[in-house]
Order: sequence, then C-alpha cells, then structure tokens
Amino acid sequence: MAQVEVNSVTVSQGVRILFSLMTPNESSFATVQEVPKYVNQATPYFIGLILLEIVLGWLKTDGPHIKINDFITSLSAGMMSRLPQLMMRSLELSAYIYVWNNFRLLELPWDSAWTWWLAFLGVDMGYYWFHRFAHELNILWAAHQVHHSSEYYNLSTALRQSVTQQFSSWAFYLPLALMVPPSVFAVHIQFNLLYQFWIHTELVKDLGPLEWILNTPSHHRVHHGRNPYCIDKNYAGILIIWDRMFGTFAPESDEVVYGLTHPLGTFEIWTVEFLYYPYLWQRFWEAEGISNKLSVIFKGPGWTPGKPRLGDIADIPQITGEEMPHDPVWSPVMQAYVFVQFLLLLDVYNNLLMDQKILSEMTVLLLTAYVLLSLTSLGFLIDQRANAAEMEMLRCVLIMALQQFGYIKPLVPQLAFSIEAFVLISAVYWSLQCVNQRIDRMKKQN
Ligand SMILES: [Zn+2]
Ligand SMILES: [Zn+2]
Repeated sequence: MAQVEVNSVTVSQGVRILFSLMTPNESSFATVQEVPKYVNQATPYFIGLILLEIVLGWLKTDGPHIKINDFITSLSAGMMSRLPQLMMRSLELSAYIYVWNNFRLLELPWDSAWTWWLAFLGVDMGYYWFHRFAHELNILWAAHQVHHSSEYYNLSTALRQSVTQQFSSWAFYLPLALMVPPSVFAVHIQFNLLYQFWIHTELVKDLGPLEWILNTPSHHRVHHGRNPYCIDKNYAGILIIWDRMFGTFAPESDEVVYGLTHPLGTFEIWTVEFLYYPYLWQRFWEAEGISNKLSVIFKGPGWTPGKPRLGDIADIPQITGEEMPHDPVWSPVMQAYVFVQFLLLLDVYNNLLMDQKILSEMTVLLLTAYVLLSLTSLGFLIDQRANAAEMEMLRCVLIMALQQFGYIKPLVPQLAFSIEAFVLISAVYWSLQCVNQRIDRMKKQN
C-alpha cells in the first residue's frame, strides 16, 4: 500500500516516532546535521491525535474535557518554548557537543544498536533526574510549574512547556557525552520528549502489564495531580522503572484533581511562563538569614522555615472533590474569533519553523516578534483584560502589513482573499471598540 508522505516522513514512521517505536536501524546517523527534526515533523500528528481525542471524548463521555481558553494557553506555551531554537541550536545539544568534543573518554560506534539502546536508557534516566530536580528545587520549579499549570488533563497539556526549562535540563545529560556520540543523543532527546505527548490523556485507563515498565497515561495523571498522594511522584519519561527504583512511584487511586496546589487563575501566557520568578525573588528577600534565603532557592517549592526539605504535605490545600478549573464566562463569538485567529497564527508559526533555514535573519526576527505579539494579544483577549482591544487592533494592522509585503502566505492560496477580508473587518471592529472604550472613560471622568 502506498504510504502518504507528510514532511518527508511516512505516516507509519510519524506514528512510531510519537510512541518511541523507531528501530536503531532507521534512526542512527553519523552526524548531528543528518538527524531529522523529529519534533517539527511530528506537528501534524500532534494535531491529528488532539482531534481524535476530542472526537473520542465526545463519543465516550458527556463531552471532551477541553476548553478553548486552556487549550490555547497550552499551545501558546508550547510555541513560545520553541522560539529560542530559531536563533540558536538547543542548549541541550550545544552543551553535549562541547563535552563530547573536549572531554569524551571513549567513542562508542554511532551505528551500533548497543550504543542506541544505551543512549535510550541514559537519556531516559537523565530525564528522570532532571524532572525530579525540577520539582524538588524551587529555582527549577519556577520553570517547570508552567507544565503543571493546566487544571485539565488532555493531549494539549503535553504541549504546555516552559521557555526557561531548557536552561537547566542540559546538565543532566552530560555524563552520556563522555561516550555516546552527539548524533545518537540528538535522536533520543527528541524521542524522549515525543513519547511524553500521548500519555497526557484521560481516555486510556489501564494498560495491564505495560504499567509495570512504561510510563503510561495512568502514571502520568498521578504526576499532574494536586491530591496529597500525587505530590512529587512519577517523574518518569518513557520507563516508569526509575520511579520504582528510586522510591518515587505512586499508582493511580483516588480521582486525580489536576494542576498546581495554588492555581494561577490566568490564561495570559507571559504570566503563566514567568510569574513564578518575581514570587521567588520576593520570598528570597523576605527570608531571614542567608541559610533561609538559600533554602528558598534550593529546597522544594513547599519548604518553609522549620519544615522538611520538600515541605509538609499537610500544608497543601485539602482536596474536597468540589474543585472547579478557572474558567470565566466569555462569549461564544469571542471564543470562535480567538480560535480562528489562533489557527491563522499556527499556520505562520509552522511556516516559520519549517522555512527557517531559507528565510533571511530579518524575516525570522520579524515573524518571531509577530508570533510573540500575537500570543500576548490573544492571551489578553482570553483573559478579558481591559487593554486587549488596543493590542488586538495593533496586531490586526500588523497582519495586514505583513500580508501586503508577502511575509505571511496563507496555507490555502484560495482562501487568501477571505483571510485578508477577515483581518480587515477585525481591525475595524477593534478600532471601534477602542473608540467606544475611550468615550466610556471620558464619560466616567466627567
Ligand atoms: Zn513535572
Ligand atoms: Zn506532563
């Protein structure tokens, strides 16, 4: 049977990439340059599985447990987290190559299945320890809390990633660089991340004997819980054996309530990504004495003076079963508007990632700025902020300029006119909103 090509991988390969089922034969490369960008190639499969989860959720239960505000915030975080890689090679890979070039003890052959499996285990164990530190050290938690900030649990939650996490995770893979070639590491660091996509679902209940070895949706649901039994448990990437070995495993029991013990209560992406840093800074200054100050930074997020290193589980808010996710009412028309605008943005973002090598630096910078402005503006709209109208009007004007000068091309050329008309009408609408708000303000002042 002929296989359909999507971004130069076959559908069968695309699916196997997502489930970490690629063989050493088809994913071993001599140089880092030859290693495919599996994460970028997987984008259509992310979208496909998200749609499948929504449809199955509708069929199986009273409706999918997904909300547009939370969904867009998760995708926005995922998009933002990958933007630094447009400007530079990932820090994980750069640090790894540096250690390999300067300090390697031996050179395992890149084309051996043994090397491939060693890297598979090494990266997975590196991830376990990175992830554990990310929960147990407040300074690393400041980055990682982004991933836990959704109060829902679906495939889009997997994409809610932190921008700043990449600045600490690299250190945990360096022992491997003493012997495993960077090209092998570059494959597994991507597979490890990709595997963790499909486990973010409530639809898969129990996988029988696989639950012993693999990190599964059930184990990872526990990891995302704020029930006392879920705190600081199940750090695994692909294999749950690390949690079983190092004493951090907990099986799923009571119904999991998802999210942070103290929910953020916002969908605005900059707040979600960076809010914890000023909070940490404030706690640092308020702590008395150098020992307490250092403890604020290097002990667990739940630590307070006189408490154990990871805090006291009795201090977290009790689960009553009445917890409701933050979901303020907003009009269906505005939901549809934000969703359509987000789809248009996703198209630009995808083109930017795919064409990055052939675009001029100026274009990459311009489009990156446009993506950031769009994520901010759509976040303001979802959060129903007072200055959202001004920001969105500016953004619509910018889109028109980018369309005019050919920086933005629609996915379907036949839709070009409709999209331009939609953006123009949006710009007019938001301008009128701004005028109305001005008049209202003037009336109030008088
Ligand atoms: Zn985590
Ligand atoms: Zn997760």
